[in-house]
Amino acid sequence: MDYKNVQSAPGSPAVFESSQQYLRSANIAIQLTLFLKNLGYDSRAHIDGDYEVICPLVARDAGLGEIGRMGLLMTPHLGPRVRIAVVTTNAPLVPGEYQPDRNMIEFCRVCKKCADCCPGNSIPTDDMLEIDGVSRWRIDSDSCYRYWCTSGTDCGRCMAVCPFSHRNNLFHNTIRVLIRYSRLFARLAYHADDLFYGRKPKSKPPSEWMRI
Ligand code: SF4
Ligand code: SF4
Repeated sequence: MDYKNVQSAPGSPAVFESSQQYLRSANIAIQLTLFLKNLGYDSRAHIDGDYEVICPLVARDAGLGEIGRMGLLMTPHLGPRVRIAVVTTNAPLVPGEYQPDRNMIEFCRVCKKCADCCPGNSIPTDDMLEIDGVSRWRIDSDSCYRYWCTSGTDCGRCMAVCPFSHRNNLFHNTIRVLIRYSRLFARLAYHADDLFYGRKPKSKPPSEWMRI
C-alpha cells in the first residue's frame, strides 16, 4: 500500500488505498485461479468480502511474514502495509516452510505503539494468547468496527504508526534486516522510532493527487 496514503489514516485516502489494493490482490488471485482451473485443478480465490480462510494466518504459514500485535501480516519490506488474497487449490505444490521471525515478535512485545494510538482501544497490550492452537495477538474486532462506523472510514491508524510501515527504501530495509538478526538492535530501533517519529505520530497529508 502507498506509504503516503496510509500515513493519512484514519482519513479517507487510506480507505481508498486499501480498496485499491484489495482490488489488485483480487485481480491477481482470480487470474491465478482461472489459470489453475485451465490446467485441470480445482482452485478458489479468497478475496475481500469472500473468504473461507483467514488470509494473514495462511500468509504467515506460507512464509510471507509474521502476525503482529495488531493482528495483521507483517512482511519483511512493507510491514503491515499490504493487502492480501489467497488461492487454495488441489494442484500438487511443493510446500513452503514457515521460518519464525522471533525478533519481529519480540519487537511487537515491547513496542505497543499501535495499541497506544488505536482510537478504538481495540489492540491488546498484554502478551499473546493461544488461539485455536496458534500463539498470537487478537484485536477486539467489535470495538474496531464500532470506531469505523463512528469515524466513517476504515481507520488504519494502527498500520500507519507501525515502525515496520516505514518506506521501502535502503535505509529502512537495512534497519529491518538488523532487527531480524539482532535482538539488541531491535531494542535500540524501538527507542529510536519513538525518538524520531514520536510515540503518537499525527496523521500526515496523503499523496498530492489525492488531496482535494
Ligand atoms: S506498532 Fe509496534 S506493536 Fe504494533 S504491530 Fe507494529 S511493531 Fe508490533
Ligand atoms: S483500524 Fe483503527 S480502530 Fe481498528 S485496530 Fe487499527 S487503529 Fe484500532
